[in-house]
Amino acid sequence: MNFSDLGISPEILEAIEVLGFEAPSPIQERAIPPALGGEDVLGLSYTGSGKTLAFSIPALEALDPGERTVQALCLCPTRELAVQICREVEKLALFMEGVSAVPIYGGASFRPQLDALKRGAQFVVGTPGRVMDLMEQGALSFAALRTLILDEADEMLDMGFLEDIERIADALPARKQTLFFSATMSPGIRRLVGRFSKNPVEVSIERPALTVPTVEQTAYEVVFSSRLEVLCRLMETGKVRKGLIFANTKRVVDDIVDGLTARGYAADRLHGDMPQMLRERVMESFRRGSLRALVATDIAARGLDVDDVDCVVNYELPRDPEDYVHRIGRTARAGRAGRAVSFVGRRDFSLLGRIERFIGMKMNREAVMSAGRVEQMRREALMDEVLELARGDAGLPQEMQELGLPAERLAAAMFELLTRRSAREIQPIPEDRPSLLAAHGEGKGFGARGDASWKHLQDTATLFMNAGRQLGIRPRDIAGLLYNEGGAPEGSVGDIRMFPRHTLIEVDPSVAGQLRERLATARLCGYEVNIREDQGRPQGGSFRRGGGFRPRRGERDSFPRGERPHTPPRRKRF
Ligand code: AMP
Repeated sequence: MNFSDLGISPEILEAIEVLGFEAPSPIQERAIPPALGGEDVLGLSYTGSGKTLAFSIPALEALDPGERTVQALCLCPTRELAVQICREVEKLALFMEGVSAVPIYGGASFRPQLDALKRGAQFVVGTPGRVMDLMEQGALSFAALRTLILDEADEMLDMGFLEDIERIADALPARKQTLFFSATMSPGIRRLVGRFSKNPVEVSIERPALTVPTVEQTAYEVVFSSRLEVLCRLMETGKVRKGLIFANTKRVVDDIVDGLTARGYAADRLHGDMPQMLRERVMESFRRGSLRALVATDIAARGLDVDDVDCVVNYELPRDPEDYVHRIGRTARAGRAGRAVSFVGRRDFSLLGRIERFIGMKMNREAVMSAGRVEQMRREALMDEVLELARGDAGLPQEMQELGLPAERLAAAMFELLTRRSAREIQPIPEDRPSLLAAHGEGKGFGARGDASWKHLQDTATLFMNAGRQLGIRPRDIAGLLYNEGGAPEGSVGDIRMFPRHTLIEVDPSVAGQLRERLATARLCGYEVNIREDQGRPQGGSFRRGGGFRPRRGERDSFPRGERPHTPPRRKRF
């Protein structure tokens, strides 16, 4: 079948030709004709199936280029995806005069996005939080909307965007076409589809089979802020000898490499945009064994070919289960044994479930190694080496004999010296504190308690802060505030989960009161923030809370840092 058989207009066909696509992919072949016929569509297809064209083409065909109002809205889970979809839409609209698309996402200045809207962009691609903000501020009008697209709907629900999506969809004109796309089907998506579309044509595309390598796979439940230390412990105790470490963004890759290097490990990075020469050099060092850890994103690791990686570490779980399979396939090569370990934070549970469903198996759950255990393993390794040497005929060197001390005292002093010299300082993490580790002991694995109670910090208190990612605050800024201003003792701060407009912080219950008191009103990165007790998850399954710093229209960019007025938190939407 050709694109011209699908009923697409000559302008878009010409653009497809420029893009160089020869034939429609299965999802395009099956979703485009009903969508062009005006029907709602529910497309179940995986990333990489060509779904962007499948929804962009019908949405572009439906809009009137002469009308400079928003006529197509595509909601998607991340900023990267929004930008990527926009690029594709613009390429498809190359020969449609006067059509433009704008990405709308949080964590960036409002101004350029508002300007693009003012210039009359007809196609808006955005993340639900920011789209809702602009809509509620009156900066985004959907009165003339013709097409609503939900891309990666499952991902958006996992990320807690349900409430925002519903608020947006409720505000749209009743007469519109809805195109839903999701990699998986769930009751949540069914409900959403049932509520916002009319008898959609269902198109389901099976993913080509992927072989899941037979690698020992372990999931560690790791507090967000403990990840680097846990990685170091794995390296320290020989669980990772030559490790390929995966993260989802370049920034996290850099953080890991900087952290490992600062702690004395030979580590380097692979970025997707590194010049080929440099990539080759880094890969060669890793192959030769001069590097113990190579840290990369999925894209950067493409084409990486190293046979003796003994462990793949998913420092962050990949968003796409297929990437997980590609990642773990980098170990256990050429007949060697290999392992894969994944760090799983509390917000990653649904993602872990999705990956496990995709690979058709459950990973082993293991508890993070405690500082005491690391210490013990180190001593055991040292004793093994001593034993090995003692079997030979090594005598006491002359200089030591001249000290005239009993051999036992000398041996004790040497052991102490070796321990000090060879050991990296172990950083305390919440997992080390028995009061925080609640129900499970080392080695028992969380599986014993079942996933439903996979909440290792049973004994923690959760604090709520009315500021989140949108202000550009990072977890380490918050940790600094808690330790420095709040006087939290070392290791008493656990998982810091940032949302666009609020943050949930797990702390040792013994310091929760002190932190609430001292930080009821505090300054953080130039903003006035409030920390208070978390009231718990909203009923009804939505992760989102109200509250948070929500400046009024135009206010956000007009206050210099440090002079921002305090906006009282909005009422929680429970
Ligand atoms: P998507 O699933 O929309 O993210 O698309 C995955 C990749 O396939 C993108 O790089 C598209 O540019 C490309 N693509 C989409 N449709 C086609 C097609 N019909 N033929 C070849 N490549 C395509």
